[in-house]
Amino acid sequence: MAVTVFVSGATGFIAQHIVQQLIERGYNVIGSVRSASKGDQLKESLKSDKFSYEIVADIQKEGAFDEALKKHPEVTVFLHTASPFHFNTTDIEKDLLLPAIEGTKNALSAIKAHAPQVKRVVVTSSYAAMFEDDNNPNYTANEASWTKLTWEQAKENPLNGYIASKTFAEQAAWDFVKEQKPHFQLSIVNPVYVFGPQAFDSDAVGTLNTSSEIINSLLKLGPKDEIPEMQGGYIDVRDVARAHLVAFESDAAIGQRILTTNKERFSTYAIVEIIRENFAQYKDQLPAVNTHSHEEAIGKGCKLDPSKSWKILGFEPIDLKKSVIDSVAQILKNKQ
Ligand code: NAP
Repeated sequence: MAVTVFVSGATGFIAQHIVQQLIERGYNVIGSVRSASKGDQLKESLKSDKFSYEIVADIQKEGAFDEALKKHPEVTVFLHTASPFHFNTTDIEKDLLLPAIEGTKNALSAIKAHAPQVKRVVVTSSYAAMFEDDNNPNYTANEASWTKLTWEQAKENPLNGYIASKTFAEQAAWDFVKEQKPHFQLSIVNPVYVFGPQAFDSDAVGTLNTSSEIINSLLKLGPKDEIPEMQGGYIDVRDVARAHLVAFESDAAIGQRILTTNKERFSTYAIVEIIRENFAQYKDQLPAVNTHSHEEAIGKGCKLDPSKSWKILGFEPIDLKKSVIDSVAQILKNKQ
């Protein structure tokens, strides 16, 4: 009998890849989506009878996952990916903090109360929860790093709000396990900026999800524009999805925070350079990159040591060049 996996937020950028990989590996998948039209669209894209969906319109609502889990006693693995990831808010508590935290608690409470057969739970957190000293080049971040933000600091601006939403939500998951001693084992996946193609070409149009839009927005620069500086850790979405599968398939992942990042950082300069070198139509359209810019930009960030996590994951990450080329090629395909 095939194992059935529940994926919350199944329509998300990362979750669609998770669902696709689960189906490819023979799992049955129940995805939670916000509406029937979103569920139908995903089912149409997947073209698989191994996928079905349940509607969970708002993960923050008390008991949000109760009915879906009562209806599916066949679910033995739960992957909680749903969480707001955007900076478009003037009410940080309502739009970012509470859905992330309450959504996580609702998922875990529903599993404890209504799904005693669930053995493994994976929560998608973020490197945002590991932002202990990200701007210190002398610091090395690893699986033990934790963001230190107060509730008040979280409300200062949307970036702080998102970072804190992931930190408090992850903390709530660990606290739940410690205090409630549920019947399932918890693993956490902490991705850095996630790049790479959408699971379905049809989704690579218009404004993309927050992390993919970083590459998409660079394509709109003119030759005389300044490249907006940004740098950070990066990982390909196909690797993040794969990490979620390892996180529940491998016993070594139990009780772990899995930091999914390449060791080196990306910068917007490096991305522009890769695009100019690999897509003739952008060679003269995008601004030229000063050779020192990339090194200077990434020199402002801390070092990343994900070695413990890659030992658990047991595969090699996709590099920035492939991530960028595959992302841009997909966007261009839709323009033709
Ligand atoms: P995404 O495409 O925006 O996906 C987020 C998913 O969560 C969507 O399906 C969204 O549904 C759902 N969702 C959000 N708020 C909800 C609510 N209140 N009720 C019900 N569903 C809700 O973003 P993503 O990049 O795939 O992110 C997925 C997870 O990875 C998130 O937990 C995010 O924090 C984490 N993460 C992402 C990155 C990255 O760079 N992409 C890095 C680290 C961690 P709708 O689309 O219908 O609103």
